[in-house]
Amino acid sequence: MPLKHKSIMELFDTSVTVFGAPGRYVQGPGALRLVGDCAATLGSAAVLVIDGVIRDMLAERIRESCAAAGVGLTVLSFSGELGRCTGSQLQAQLGGPVSMVIAAGGGRAIDAGKALSERVGGGLISLPTVASNDAPTSKNFVLYDEEHRLLEVRHLTRNPDFVIVDTAILSKAPRALFRAGLGDALAKKFEADACLKNGGGTMFLASSTRLAHRIAGFCYETLVRHAAAAWSVAGTGAVTEDFDAAVEAMILMAGLGFESGGLSLPHALTRGIPLLPRGATVPHGMQVAWALIVHFETLGLEPPPELVALYRAVGLPLCLEDLGVPPPSSADLAALADATLAVRHAKNMPFELDARTLLNAVLRVETRAATRSPVL
Ligand SMILES: [Zn+2]
Repeated sequence: MPLKHKSIMELFDTSVTVFGAPGRYVQGPGALRLVGDCAATLGSAAVLVIDGVIRDMLAERIRESCAAAGVGLTVLSFSGELGRCTGSQLQAQLGGPVSMVIAAGGGRAIDAGKALSERVGGGLISLPTVASNDAPTSKNFVLYDEEHRLLEVRHLTRNPDFVIVDTAILSKAPRALFRAGLGDALAKKFEADACLKNGGGTMFLASSTRLAHRIAGFCYETLVRHAAAAWSVAGTGAVTEDFDAAVEAMILMAGLGFESGGLSLPHALTRGIPLLPRGATVPHGMQVAWALIVHFETLGLEPPPELVALYRAVGLPLCLEDLGVPPPSSADLAALADATLAVRHAKNMPFELDARTLLNAVLRVETRAATRSPVL
């Protein structure tokens, strides 16, 4: 008889604390060479889901590494939108059973690999080639509609077995993607703080562990210390100590921090921002960066000066104009508030957030930016 188990999102509640993590996190220049030996611990037949843009650059190296370890590899390119059919479309291209999925690329290709993994089971290796978000370490993945509006967050039973981060590859990735990853990661401390203070549920619907909360805080400290210097070499191919530290914060610490530490208003706002004119084309991390400024305003707090300095140094958005979003109408703002407040993370605040409070905060952020107040 097949085993029956509850989905991961039915297992826990806030009466317990839960800490989840990938099996092994591997980071360093040239780490890609280890993919075959790591894969061989999971089985002998792998499918590689790889972003079509980097297929020519990396697929052969991954195939050689796997072949040397006795692992056969089927290569599937992924491009386009990540939707409800992505997992089944990738599965239809498989010739036979596989023992693992290797997902390589940015957030979208890694999530496509997770969507396939949800269907075929077995092991999962994530191989991020940019530090644009913290998807690589986590169990969850997101699906979008045709207009790139977030439809659904889905959850695998387990986190990836291996996360392999080759900093030599990441150091050559476009700088704009590094900036977006930084925006996503900087919010984690403040979201984990808000979640813990409010007793909210994490990505396991459980209570936050002290460790995850501390990791989110250390993620922020690490980025404040290293991110500006890392930004100065991002895209050049140089793997400096600052770059290495920033990548670890943006992928490992941010991933552990949000998943077991919880989210709050900034990530809830990522459901609303795509409803603003041109908002759907703004990268996730840039959305989160602006939403963090709104988060502070909603709490009646000024953003910490070191955060504002870092935003200015790397060009993270302090207002909607910085995101390329024109001034929203009141109908746009109402849609933003509705979509945001429907997300459970929006409840992880010290008070019950209503639409008026949220929209007033958004408008104050815009006014401050327009008048170039010293705070922003
Ligand atoms: Zn995020």
